[in-house]
Order: sequence, then C-alpha cells, then structure tokens
Amino acid sequence: MLSTLDSIITVPLFAKGTVGVCHYFGTKPAPGPPATPMGGPSVRVVTVRQVHGTDVLAIDRRTAAASGSYDAIVTNQPGVLVAVETADCVPILLLDPSKGVYAAVHAGWRGTLGRIVEKAVGVMQNRFGCHLRSIRAAVGPSIGVCCYEVNGTVLAPLKRGFPDWAEVVENVKGTKAHLDLRGFNRRQLEEAGIGPDRIETVNLCTACHPDLFYSYRRDGARTGRMMSGIGLTAVLS
Ligand SMILES: [Zn+2]
Repeated sequence: MLSTLDSIITVPLFAKGTVGVCHYFGTKPAPGPPATPMGGPSVRVVTVRQVHGTDVLAIDRRTAAASGSYDAIVTNQPGVLVAVETADCVPILLLDPSKGVYAAVHAGWRGTLGRIVEKAVGVMQNRFGCHLRSIRAAVGPSIGVCCYEVNGTVLAPLKRGFPDWAEVVENVKGTKAHLDLRGFNRRQLEEAGIGPDRIETVNLCTACHPDLFYSYRRDGARTGRMMSGIGLTAVLS
C-alpha cells in the first residue's frame, strides 16, 4: 500500500503555522525502498473503496472501522493518515489546523458534479465543528483541461446542474468539450466559503506527464494509481 509514497509532491500551504501535519500528492513510484510518510510505526493509513460517489466517511474514534464505499474521509484522530487513490481524478486535501481536523477527497467527474468536496467541507463543519475561515485546501494533480475531452454523458448533467457550466469548460464543439475538473473543484471550494488565498493548486496534468503520473485516459483501465494523503502526528494546540 505504501509503495507509491516514495516520490511525492508537497505544497507549502499546510506547513505554515501548523504542527505535525504530513500531506502529499503521490506520483509514480521512484526506484528504491518506499518511505514511510510520517516516520513512525504507529501511523494508521486509512483508505476506502472508492466508487465515484459522494459519500463521506467520518472517523471520530480511533477504533472506527472503515467498511463500505466512500470517496472522501474526514477525521480528527492524530496518528491517522487518510488517503485517496487517483489516476486522472482530482485528489483534494483539507485541513482545519485550529481543530486538528483533516480530510482527503477523491473527485472524478461524477463526484465533482455531486459536489463531493463541498460535502466534505460540510462534514468538517457540521460533525467536527470546523469554521470555514480556518479551513485550508490543496487541490492536487489531475487530468487537465488540455487533455480531458468529455461528451454528452458528462456535459448533459453538467449543464442541468450548474448554471455557470460554461466557465468550467473549454473548446465546446457540439456535444463535446474539455472539462476543467481541477478548476471546477477549486471553484466549489470558493463557493463553499474558503477564501482563494487558502486554496493551493498543483497545476500539473496527469495525462501530459507520463514521467510523473499514471493516467487512466492516456494508459487505460490497467494503469496504476497514485496515493495522496494527509495526517496529523500530534494534537495541535
Ligand atoms: Zn494535459
């Protein structure tokens, strides 16, 4: 499970003013032994069976079991690393450093149209008492608008559900267009009330960078997956 963690992309956002936060966006594994992301043997990595849905798993006890299917995980348990797997979909990491609450979100087109990242932010607020003004977000590498051509299967529900749909697509030609999945999720974070100054984005396209990333669109269903995650090693004061 940890084999994809040995080469990573981190963004500086969470390091500022926070203690013991580990977060990363995965890449293809580099040669050599895998690294352990949080250093100690006691870290518990929590992943879920992802189904391109919008269900959010909330873990508020150390013993909580992670059965079922979810596409986002929220927790306030130090020593737990929550992680999602992607290969073109958008990995999103969330943190409220004042409450020690953090989340990992997997957003493909179905989850994005279902506003999964807004749902995860809602769970942070409603279940864990987070304030919007404290939440920070990092949007990871995914397929870019350059390579993500979609057809009516995606465009039709997008047009039905989002009046501003034209702002998240480019190159509209008949029933086809290029969808900006990363920008769409960033937009949803802002609409949820997270200021743009608290959202970091890794603007790398997984399909354009075969050296760094697996890509479902480029390589097909048998491609690998990158794991991205976030965890706390200590309770924040
Ligand atoms: Zn691209």
